[in-house]
Amino acid sequence: AVPLVVAKSTSLSAQHGLLIKNRTAFENSRRITSVVFDKTGTLTKGKFEVSRIVTIGEQPSNEDELIRLAGALEANSKHPIATGIISEVKKRNLALPHVEDFKAITGKGVAGVAEGKHVKIVSPGYLKENNLQLPPDYSATGNETVVFVLINDQPAGFVALADAIRPESADAIATLHDNNIKSILLTGDNKQVAESVSTQLKMDGFFAEVLPHEKLEKIKELQQKNEFVAMTGDGVNDAPALAQADIGIAVGSGSDIAAETAGIVLVNSNPKDIVNLILFGKATYRKMI
Ligand code: ADP
Ligand code: MG
Repeated sequence: AVPLVVAKSTSLSAQHGLLIKNRTAFENSRRITSVVFDKTGTLTKGKFEVSRIVTIGEQPSNEDELIRLAGALEANSKHPIATGIISEVKKRNLALPHVEDFKAITGKGVAGVAEGKHVKIVSPGYLKENNLQLPPDYSATGNETVVFVLINDQPAGFVALADAIRPESADAIATLHDNNIKSILLTGDNKQVAESVSTQLKMDGFFAEVLPHEKLEKIKELQQKNEFVAMTGDGVNDAPALAQADIGIAVGSGSDIAAETAGIVLVNSNPKDIVNLILFGKATYRKMI
């Protein structure tokens, strides 16, 4: 039987945006020493807005041409970056060309053929991996996520996107701190954004440009330093690391696989609910002892 205090706390938790799938995870929440956060959609709103469109060389000759080609490919993707590019296309009232041979390059970008051109939209990491020069006027600043448009495998421009930090995030991290719990950012996004978000939120550190298979290793590293680790994640990519963490916390809007793997689900994707989880956990099990 479930003790009454636990049952009460569990239903209280439901009111606070927490779905507890595994009672051991709830019970262990009071032992957390580090929370590893994903960035997009948890600490930030997950709503990208295009902040700059820059063309390089002759073709395409203007911003509209570049964002049209990018939009044509992104119409096939559900990534938050794709959603941001599509809303820019709509703002500009542009009609999208037809795309053939669309494919996603997992964790790196998308590719396809539009108007006879081979188009790719990729991460800075993809350029490095393929020995392509970063454009001279490229510099990622502050909160910008930057993706590059390649035409026939040559850089033709880039699109910078900004995602706002959630208003609740700073408070959540400060409260964790007050409870002697560290917070660490883990993201596949570039170093500048990771550093900026982690500094603005006064986090204890960050891991940037982390490839899907490296996430699990980062969790293990922390555990080897005797940290009791909770991790938030939303993607299919995150599932192995969520399983490795002492407590896996899936973000509500994410993939089913993440939710299946995790012991706890944050229904509203709100980082403050992690604080609720830990405080409820402590209060509940204190009463039982
Ligand atoms: P994270 O680990 O932070 O959740 P993802 O694995 O979703 O990151 O993506 C890593 C990087 O791959 C993005 O920052 C972006 O540069 C690139 N990328 C992924 N999907 C797309 C897409 N649909 N369009 C453009 N770039 C993409
Ligand atoms: Mg992700």
